[in-house]
Amino acid sequence: MADDKFDAIVVGAGPAGVSAALVMARAGLNVVLLERGEYPGAKNVQGAVLYTKMLDDLIPGFWKSPDSPMERHVTEQRFWILSKDAAAQAGFKSDRWAREPHNCYTIIRTNFDRWFSKKAEEAGAQLFSGVTVSDVLKKDGRVVGIKTSEGDELFADVVIACDGVNSMLAQQVGLMDEWKADEVALGVKEILEMPKEKIEDRFCLENGEGTTIEMFGDVTQGMLGYAFLYTNKESLSIGVGCKLSHYQKSRVRPYDLMEYVKKHPILRRLIAGSKTVEYSSHLIPEGGYNSMPPLYTDGFLVAGDAAQMVNAAHREGSNFAMTAGQLAGETVIEAKKAGDFSSKTLSLYRKKMESTYILKDLFDHRELENSAERHMPLVQQGPDLLCESLYDFFHVDGLPKRVGYERILDRGLKNKAVHEALWKEMNVRNIVTGLKYGLMAGKKWLGGR
Ligand SMILES: Cc1cc2nc3c(=O)[nH]c(=O)nc-3n(C[C@H](O)[C@H](O)[C@H](O)COP(=O)(O)OP(=O)(O)OC[C@H]3O[C@@H](n4cnc5c(N)ncnc54)[C@H](O)[C@@H]3O)c2cc1C
Repeated sequence: MADDKFDAIVVGAGPAGVSAALVMARAGLNVVLLERGEYPGAKNVQGAVLYTKMLDDLIPGFWKSPDSPMERHVTEQRFWILSKDAAAQAGFKSDRWAREPHNCYTIIRTNFDRWFSKKAEEAGAQLFSGVTVSDVLKKDGRVVGIKTSEGDELFADVVIACDGVNSMLAQQVGLMDEWKADEVALGVKEILEMPKEKIEDRFCLENGEGTTIEMFGDVTQGMLGYAFLYTNKESLSIGVGCKLSHYQKSRVRPYDLMEYVKKHPILRRLIAGSKTVEYSSHLIPEGGYNSMPPLYTDGFLVAGDAAQMVNAAHREGSNFAMTAGQLAGETVIEAKKAGDFSSKTLSLYRKKMESTYILKDLFDHRELENSAERHMPLVQQGPDLLCESLYDFFHVDGLPKRVGYERILDRGLKNKAVHEALWKEMNVRNIVTGLKYGLMAGKKWLGGR
């Protein structure tokens, strides 16, 4: 590695780091990208669904390239709410998603990260794999470079930390502490090999189309989280992620939970005959807006998982990382023009972030997990309640329909978790909001008569 001074050092060659390196290298900056894995993607874990828009912003029309590592374009997204032996199902399939540009693709990160990092190299960034950054170097209180675990020191005007969840760099700089167990989820994932024809038959797919299934309820054994099953070209990705604090409380072992998911009577038919070829696990930052660290300090920026940029409710993380990496890179380009890398100039990054979907979405979803935590009995009992009610609705047993309807109503009214949830949400603000919407609807109805 050249013992030199760079315009920017980017730590971590995941979606955030590669995006940052790519835009800076294209602008002619002297950029080094450091990755601890043997190659980019060697240890990275994702479901993985990748949204088109954010990658298209960086590499227009990327899907047309013959070496594109996309697996399948997703044309159908399903949701299952599972009890022990049943599934309430909802979903959406669109022919518009079959047309280019597709909404999203399934990917396999080992292939994707290698391809994506090559794009940054082709633009002029220098990538060094197998290099672990161990320290941040500071002078007069500002970040001036990094030290590797091998003892090499590299210097730059700016260091961009894209080192993923539990960012060691952001901690060293003092932007944040280690995450707490209720700010992260633990995801486990397997890749199951299956012939292309079988996948297309089982999931009703053609012409490279793909399906995603997100599963709630029984598959998390009472913990907050969800399982997923995605189709790749010749494999399936299956996984489950739950809050780390819930794993600690329940003492369920992630590997056992994964086996439980795979054996669920509704799910097991879809994966029957497949062969596990890869097993991995990884943390997912889920603290959201309330847990985000400051995004910059003198000579230093932080992007992607390292800054808690994940919207778990919409399984968006890699796209956040790409946009944030791009904006961090663009901020450095402007700082270079101004010849100033102090936090005053780098604060532009935060302003850019505020104008994107990222901070708006993280802000809007900031209380989602807290409110799910407040209603855990409902989260735990709701799936059974729903599946039992649907059973009564659809099952024909010779009794009048009113008997089934009464059972459904009775079950809902007598359920303690439902009472508790209603009672907890019965505060002045919610009553006033309810009345307001009631009045508005009433006025509209009267006006229309
Ligand atoms: C089970 C699971 C399922 C997911 N599913 C989805 C999904 O379907 N869609 C989606 O958009 N998101 C999903 N995510 C989230 C997504 O994976 C992340 O949000 C995304 O990878 C963040 O990108 P990043 O570049 O910030 O971090 P990462 O992808 O984690 O990259 C960080 C990189 O930094 C390197 N690194 C770390 N420390 C050092 C160091 N000290 N020195 C050098 N290099 C270092 C790592 O090796 C790694 O390559 C999922 C996550 C998990 C765990």
